Amino acid sequence: MKPKTSPYRKILEKKAEEVRHSMSAQKAAQVVSRLDIPSDEGDLSQHHHEEWIFLNRNTIDMKLLREIADALHRMDIGQFGVCPECEAPISAKRLDAVPWARYCVTCQEQIAARIADGEVIDEFQEAGR
Ligand SMILES: [Zn+2]
Repeated sequence: MKPKTSPYRKILEKKAEEVRHSMSAQKAAQVVSRLDIPSDEGDLSQHHHEEWIFLNRNTIDMKLLREIADALHRMDIGQFGVCPECEAPISAKRLDAVPWARYCVTCQEQIAARIADGEVIDEFQEAGR
């Protein structure tokens, strides 16, 4: 039986579109702010602060885009909505909240605990490099 994934595909593609859009909007804003060349120390540190926020937000957006792409790939190979850790189906409730979720809630919590213990490297940090 073919898994019912089509509603999620639309949601994922729409979300990816939104993230890409917000990223390019941020880039455009950044270009505009670069035209304001800081004239003194105060302006300069403010500028760096804004740049840091921009980069940080961008990292989160990049990670989200990658997760969405992964989810779409899993859809293509028929593994969408199945937890790769325990092979249990991921609940519709979870997929409705987080359509790009890779793991079921139980495994996600276990992985989060292992990250907190330093046993595994947080993928989020890897993605930010
Ligand atoms: Zn699981």
